[in-house]
Amino acid sequence: MKQKVRRSLILISFFLFPVTIFYFSPYLIIIGGIGGIITGSFIMFAAQFVLSIFLGRAFCGWVCPAGGAQDACAIANKKPLRSKKADWAKYFIWAPWVAGIALIFIRAGGVKGIDPLFGTEYGISVARPEAYIIYIPILALVVVPALFFRKRLFCHSICWMAPFMVLGRKIGNLLRFPSLRLRADSKRCTACLSCDNACPMSLPVSEMVARGDMENPECVLCGECTSVCRCNAVRFGFGRRKTNR
Ligand code: SF4
Ligand code: SF4
Ligand code: SF4
Repeated sequence: MKQKVRRSLILISFFLFPVTIFYFSPYLIIIGGIGGIITGSFIMFAAQFVLSIFLGRAFCGWVCPAGGAQDACAIANKKPLRSKKADWAKYFIWAPWVAGIALIFIRAGGVKGIDPLFGTEYGISVARPEAYIIYIPILALVVVPALFFRKRLFCHSICWMAPFMVLGRKIGNLLRFPSLRLRADSKRCTACLSCDNACPMSLPVSEMVARGDMENPECVLCGECTSVCRCNAVRFGFGRRKTNR
């Protein structure tokens, strides 16, 4: 039931992507910044950062349209991605981009205004047929790696939003804030590996359960592992981080 709700939500979000895509735009935040304007995507990235302190990367597992698009691709291609190097690639995109945004705002003389609908037409991103010239290549950037290479490859290696949430989560853990997280009971685990196969982020869930530490920066808190585990060895919880070490 939980997964039916999640999959429906994330799929609806994907179908709404033509409406919402500019609110995730790494480009409009720069164009707005030149005039000192806080755009919708600026607000979105800030919200992702703040929410991740208490909800981790649940946005990625339950809401993100690009996550929904990639989960749909997993019906055709289930090849997992188990390379930590692939996870690092996105930071080489994110770090210079964030530094560039900071510089642009400094050059603009700071924040001059806020326009959440910046670049949209009455709040809609793809309001005219010609806007599909922007939409389709971005969708291809998300979908093609997932279809022809590995599950959620865009999330692992390209996404400019994920680092905000990884950072928020790390800060929350450092400050010992309570947060949505997975809890493991390693004594219940039978090492059936169903959770490893079900994880959309290709994480070594069974190893995490055996260690008793479910913290992983790539976990999107989708709960697929909690749903497939018949032994109740992994479940959702809310609280501070605990480890067996
Ligand atoms: S990593 Fe990026 S693309 Fe993937 S679900 Fe999260 S926000 Fe969306
Ligand atoms: S699905 Fe449950 S029992 Fe099976 S390996 Fe994962 S945690 Fe262990
Ligand atoms: S570890 Fe579990 S909750 Fe985290 S991404 Fe994998 S399946 Fe989803």
